[in-house]
Amino acid sequence: MMSAAAGAVGGVVGREGRCAPQMLSDTAVAILAFLQTIAAAGACEECVGVYVGVARHEAIDSIRELVDASRILCIYGACGLCRQRRLVARVWRPASAA
Ligand SMILES: [Zn+2]
Repeated sequence: MMSAAAGAVGGVVGREGRCAPQMLSDTAVAILAFLQTIAAAGACEECVGVYVGVARHEAIDSIRELVDASRILCIYGACGLCRQRRLVARVWRPASAA
């Protein structure tokens, strides 16, 4: 008897990012912390991946996640680390900064 019913416990449908702005992945949280340390400069997704220790595509996914959550913004310019002109992620400027 092959009762390998592949346990269809269907029900957990995560990834609803819209109405849960606080739900950031561990990688996204790490990236946010990293970007906050270099707030003035910003970093491209490649440098973010290197510094946080994740693959580039994972860095891109998490950057997108942070942008969706309005935690960071992406601008086209020179990366503060590798100096290449590309899409750079950076945190919003703190309101207290003159
Ligand atoms: Zn870079």
